[in-house]
Amino acid sequence: MQAPTIGGVQIRHGNGQVIRLSRGASLADFADKIGANPASLVQVMLGLGEMVTATQSVNDETLQLLGAELNYNIQVVSPEEEDRELLESFDIEFGEDEGEDADLVARPPVVTVMGHVDHGKTKLLDAIRHTNLQAREAGGITQHIGAYQVTTEVDGEERKITFIDTPGHEAFTAMRARGAETTDLVVLVVAADDGVKPQTTEALNHAQAAGVPIVVAVNKVDKEGADPQRVRAQLTEYGLVAEEFGGDTQFVDVSATKRIGLENLLEAIVLTADASLDLRANPHQDAQGVAIEGHLDKGRGPVATVLVQRGTLNVGDSIVCGEAYGRVRAMLDENYDPISEAPPSRPVQVLGLTAVPGAGDNFLVVSDDRMARQIAERREARERVATFAQGRRRVTLEDLDQAFKAGEREELLLIIKGDVSGSVEALEDALLKLDVGEEVSLRVIGRGVGAITQDDVNLAIASDAVIIGFNVRPAERAGELARREGVDIRYYSIIYQAIEEVEAALKGMLKPEFEEAQLGTAEIREVFRVPRIGNVAGSIVRSGVIRRGSKARLIRDSVVISDNLTVDSLRRFKEDATEVREGFECGIGIGFNDVRVGDTIETFEMREKPRT
Ligand code: GDP
Repeated sequence: MQAPTIGGVQIRHGNGQVIRLSRGASLADFADKIGANPASLVQVMLGLGEMVTATQSVNDETLQLLGAELNYNIQVVSPEEEDRELLESFDIEFGEDEGEDADLVARPPVVTVMGHVDHGKTKLLDAIRHTNLQAREAGGITQHIGAYQVTTEVDGEERKITFIDTPGHEAFTAMRARGAETTDLVVLVVAADDGVKPQTTEALNHAQAAGVPIVVAVNKVDKEGADPQRVRAQLTEYGLVAEEFGGDTQFVDVSATKRIGLENLLEAIVLTADASLDLRANPHQDAQGVAIEGHLDKGRGPVATVLVQRGTLNVGDSIVCGEAYGRVRAMLDENYDPISEAPPSRPVQVLGLTAVPGAGDNFLVVSDDRMARQIAERREARERVATFAQGRRRVTLEDLDQAFKAGEREELLLIIKGDVSGSVEALEDALLKLDVGEEVSLRVIGRGVGAITQDDVNLAIASDAVIIGFNVRPAERAGELARREGVDIRYYSIIYQAIEEVEAALKGMLKPEFEEAQLGTAEIREVFRVPRIGNVAGSIVRSGVIRRGSKARLIRDSVVISDNLTVDSLRRFKEDATEVREGFECGIGIGFNDVRVGDTIETFEMREKPRT
């Protein structure tokens, strides 16, 4: 059917026809779907008062707007959905065990430890792992790979339990938010001397919402003032009734530091899992599961801990994990012992991937390397498109407040880079939970493990985002590019500090807290003209050091002649120098021609004042 023209352009109307577009599609993609000329869609958008180029990614609203105008029913497809379709196109089904009921074999429960801060989650995880290891072999080296498995005897039978050893509900919720249901059972740690606290109930809510059974570890029973019965009484209010009170929740008194009650806890976990869950998986299929943690190892390259959820993972398998792929070169368990196969519920560290996957990324074994690469590449391409779709202009945390006031911006865009995927996920999750009111919001448009790269900086430039470096620094020229382009990079090594600053920025409270630190002064003795460079000041350093690249100002008769200069060149005799100390002569170029004998060059750097 030929439609009336819109804005002088003839386009076939949709009559409500359904068009599926992936998040971050462009007008060209749209045009392709309806067999129109991209330029005509650009014109339609212009008619609607928006200037969009044909190949630029646009947001959901723009796609919907255009769809409504042309009478198409637009369905924007989510990344998860798209991923399922992507895998289907390779004839792969993710998430379901193959075969029939008879093919399923019992597998160990996967446990996450949650609870209020300082109630002993970390200590408990360490204690369990340690006790179990000592029983096995004395003095073995244990590694934190993000998860571990222990063995315990219940009713004369050897039983295994897998613990995710990144404690806390951040990891739990972040994984769940990404559709990665990794946890079968939650151990809720409550300190007997402190009782139920806000994060106890928060953890409880998360576990109950996920429909995951709970075992309560009443910790610190060794402490004076410990009152384990009170914990039991308090938790009845939340529907957790101890067996001795006629309920069906197992409460176990433990001491993580004194290593009391740990075997009872393991037994309670096994019994609860047996009573309320049917944990079985097909071990005889290509392995599938989820990445728990990943990092870049200097010697070994990308290293990822994956949890096998079904199938058996073997050395030599071709795998895809998020946007990473490769062949399993080696697998290590939590004792750093090499293993050749990993059955369901087994966490293993995998070597041989091309990149570091994110926590919560799914992994799967495919028939060959080529397919692995194709899937990874298509995921990467999709991610790139989706990321750029969200991009816009540039900002620093300090600008934000002003921009808010001017009504210019109501959203802070962030790119988070960190040393391990667990911390990136945890930080992102925590930041997204910041509640700063209606007018302002925050969006994470990029994330990853490893150094801050030029790509990250370019994305920040394109979209006006702030980069957060958690235990990482810029690679090679990325730092320089960021400085030149005025991209704000913030470095943190403590999650709470990052959260506090971002929150402060969002609330418009962040004042620049920089102070000037003087580095050195030099007196100009002679002025040289250097072709192409300009005037260079032959000087003697009077105090401190003069360092190349530092900021400088020129002072004449105690008056600042020019500020905001930089020590562009620094030479001692004919050699380039990085710094020259007090009492030595040197040639200094500060990119300012009016330098005279007798002037003083003062150099300084801006140091961020430590926050209190
Ligand atoms: P998390 O924040 O829940 O991971 O708590 P931690 O495992 O870091 O423990 C917090 C503090 O409680 C540490 O100082 C531990 O030494 C202490 N702690 C943990 N478990 C016990 C315990 O069973 N008994 C005693 N007395 N102290 C404990």
